[in-house]
This record gives sequence, structure tokens and C-alpha cells, in this order.
Amino acid sequence: MSSGRPLILVSNDDGPESPGLKALLSALRGRVDVAFIVPEGPRSSSSMSLTFHKPLRAWEREIAGVRGYVVSGSPADCVMLGRLRLLDRAPCAVASGINVGDNTGLQDIYASGTVAAAVQSALLGMPAAAFSMMVEGDGPVDEEALLEGFRDAAEYAAEIALWICERSLPPGVSLLNVNFPLRLRRPVRVEVTRPVRRKYEDHVTERRDPRGLPYYWIWGSRLGIYEEGTDAWAIYARGAISVTPLSLDLASPAGPGLEDLKARLESLPAPRGRGRRAATV
Ligand code: MN
Repeated sequence: MSSGRPLILVSNDDGPESPGLKALLSALRGRVDVAFIVPEGPRSSSSMSLTFHKPLRAWEREIAGVRGYVVSGSPADCVMLGRLRLLDRAPCAVASGINVGDNTGLQDIYASGTVAAAVQSALLGMPAAAFSMMVEGDGPVDEEALLEGFRDAAEYAAEIALWICERSLPPGVSLLNVNFPLRLRRPVRVEVTRPVRRKYEDHVTERRDPRGLPYYWIWGSRLGIYEEGTDAWAIYARGAISVTPLSLDLASPAGPGLEDLKARLESLPAPRGRGRRAATV
């Protein structure tokens, strides 16, 4: 891992056994220096959690001919360990995925560990892309079709990661969220998209355990029809590769609408004693 050549770091949220990880490592191997750091097991929907309250362990491992580490933490932990401790140089790009299941729409993007690894990379100053592939078809999807889908998607994912490595991301773009359809249509189309706001109808189902106590199951049913120009539209309706530029800047331009709240808070009588304490710290 120490040749001084450009290095691409691969992470994911599905762990070391993911077929999407193996496909991506295979597609990158030999074209650039590659290392992976992934959670020891599935951490989907873990968002950007960081482990602050217990030790993290990292074990060296080889997957698809690439050396890397498996870590007892979250996807964001993996990126943090990579950049600040385990890697001998800063990666030119971080590639997260390829996730088993697409991460389209705000509901997926905010919950996804795959996207979170790319967000953590961007926060640490490394250009990154999250890669995810749709795994539901009209009918059951067999194992062979799935592996073929990942192999095809990985060729494009590797090309995107190399492009980022060579020229970084355009100004204002912190990371790319890339989604692949189950089967790429020929000729291959690429849509530059925005996230769809609502992809699922959310549900919470209540059931009873064997002791008669209630438990709850959160799930979503896909809405199925998506606005043109969005990520879900691109993969579900167009069979295209969706490339969504994302920015870390969450600030809303609607700040002036809060002037009334500011005035109301500042007109409250100061809590007793608070001012005195503040003066002494
Ligand atoms: Mn996942």
C-alpha cells in the first residue's frame, strides 16, 4: 500500500462478503492502487454514526486480490480510521459500495451507510462517490443476474472513481451519489439527477411476540412513479445510470424567515443567575 501512486479507498456498509464490494475491487484492481476498509458485518441504514464509546478493532484481510481492513465499526468509522491512521497517504478518491440496493431519494440518502461513508470522506476533504445498485426487478432476481449486474455496474463505478481521482470534483460538488439499474440498457445512458423527495410511503407494523408484548417493524412501500429528472426516475423508469451531485452544505436560504423567532427569544427575561455564571467561564 506504499508506492506513492494515487490510491483509491473503497468502503461500504454491507461488509466484506458483499458481491458489490468484490465487483468494485475487481474492476479497480490493476488500474490504480486500491485499499478497502469495510465494516465487519452489514451496517445498512446506519447513516453517519461514529463510535465514540468503545474501542475499534481492525483486522487485515484480502478480498478479490486487494489488501485492506475489516473494522468493528460503522462505514464512517472505516473512513475515519483509513484517513487518520491505517492508510499511508491520502486517497485521491473514496468509492463506497457497490451497495446491494439503490440509494435514491432523500429517505434513502439520509439513512444510508453507503452514502455516509462518502459524506464522511468529503468532511475529511477527500472527494468521494457512493455507488448503489437496484436489486428488485419485476419478478424474482436470480443470483447469476445479480452478479452480472454488479460486474457491469462495477465497470462504470471504477471509471467514475478514476475520473474523480484524476481531476477531483467540480466546485460546489462535495460527493456524487451514483445509482445503477438492475440491468443496464444498451446503449448505456447516464442521467445527471437530483434526489426525489419521496420514494416510499412509510409504514410501522405492530405485531405480538410469543409473550404477547408488542413489537414494531419499520418499512416502506415504493411509490413507483417518480418525477422526471430525479434519481429514482433515472434508474426505475429510464434504466439509466443516475449521477447525483451532492453538497455538504445543508444550510437553508430561508434564514430571514426566522427573524420573528430571534426577536421573540431575545425579548424573553433572562433566566435568573444564568448571566452571572456565564461571566465566570
Ligand atoms: Mn447496504
